[in-house]
Amino acid sequence: MQSNSPKKIVVIGGGIAGLSVAAAVADWADVIVLEREPHLGYHASGRSAALFTETYGNRVVRGLTLASRLAIVEGGFVAHRRGALHVGWSGDGDAIDRLAGELQALVPSVRRLWAAELHALVPVIAAEATCGGVYEPDAVDVDTGKMLESSASALKAGGGIIRIGEEVRAISPDGGGLRVETNAGVYTADIVVNAAGAWVDVVAGMAGLSGLGFQPKRRTAFLFDPPAGTDISGWPLVVDLHEQFYFKPDAGRLIGSLADETDSEPCDAYPEDIDVAIAVDRIEQATSMRIDRPSTPWAGLRTFAPDRTPVAGFDPRLPGFFWLGGQGGYGFQVSLTLARLSAALMRGEPLPADVTALGVTATALAPDRFLVPAATP
Ligand SMILES: Cc1cc2nc3c(=O)[nH]c(=O)nc-3n(C[C@H](O)[C@H](O)[C@H](O)COP(=O)(O)OP(=O)(O)OC[C@H]3O[C@@H](n4cnc5c(N)ncnc54)[C@H](O)[C@@H]3O)c2cc1C
Repeated sequence: MQSNSPKKIVVIGGGIAGLSVAAAVADWADVIVLEREPHLGYHASGRSAALFTETYGNRVVRGLTLASRLAIVEGGFVAHRRGALHVGWSGDGDAIDRLAGELQALVPSVRRLWAAELHALVPVIAAEATCGGVYEPDAVDVDTGKMLESSASALKAGGGIIRIGEEVRAISPDGGGLRVETNAGVYTADIVVNAAGAWVDVVAGMAGLSGLGFQPKRRTAFLFDPPAGTDISGWPLVVDLHEQFYFKPDAGRLIGSLADETDSEPCDAYPEDIDVAIAVDRIEQATSMRIDRPSTPWAGLRTFAPDRTPVAGFDPRLPGFFWLGGQGGYGFQVSLTLARLSAALMRGEPLPADVTALGVTATALAPDRFLVPAATP
């Protein structure tokens, strides 16, 4: 058990992953967050669609999300009770029935909607065009800016430090700890948290470690106007059953997306015109909406581990090197639980009981699952 000894922790990355874990350990450790860009949340964390949905992702992601709801609500991070609607088309009836059964078992408030009900909820989808859908009424929009600010404030209140414009360039063993070199200085730490988003494997390489196979995937979004005179405030997020597109209200306009997952190198992602054009076409085909002027397109990288489950845990190859990556398309909704359980792992404690009760284990999150055991001579 390490819980009584004060620790020095360097967190690499000023997105939601890095900031939330830094805040979670600030009461028992000296923490410094290093962020290369000129402001926090510059990459994925500044580009999300801000939805919290308990039916998204695989079994572990859903467990992490369910375990986060209380903290999201009590933290005041709910911006709007949005709802989420998976829409099926002609021929999708069986798939919608199956999805409804699967999601209801997880979240009892989920309902199967029939075509007329779906049309009443989202009138731009004709009743004749749909076989109905699966509706999750308790999905919410979260205030992502507030989540970032709240973690940064909690970190500072606990005595932690944030350095922006500071890029980590090398990590090496140093006595019993680790030495972190940046463009501006050198730090020593007992624990280095690799929360570098799309760059997690790159940062591992700076420590002489092979990566775990993380893949950043670009997703594109844009804004457009709803049909004139239409009140969209009660519309849910509408996602095509086959994840070909989605749209959702955002401050009186609509966010549209191709729901694309295009492999990318870690980079400052930019939207491709063709991805916007395809999304516009698909939304127009599926609804009565006409999108004359899509505006403000943006793109961000959603970074996945090979099994699409986040990674949280110490690397067995380098003492003190802690991975916190692969938040994929769920980084905000899982962040508070990942931060809490990462703090427990760093203190040498078991995962919180409410998290394990939802089927989330340290083994399922550990980096070890991607490491090939050394061959025995
Ligand atoms: C279009 C889109 C829609 C999304 N919608 C949702 C949604 O509805 N709900 C949801 O929960 N999630 C959503 N996500 C996913 C969510 O945004 C991400 O999972 C989350 O932001 C990842 O956070 P992060 O801190 O791991 O990464 P990032 O926010 O990318 O932060 C990593 C940081 O590390 C820094 N860094 C990298 N290398 C170094 C270095 N060497 N030195 C110093 N700093 C370094 C980077 O500059 C970066 O700021 C969406 C993402 C996108 C792109």
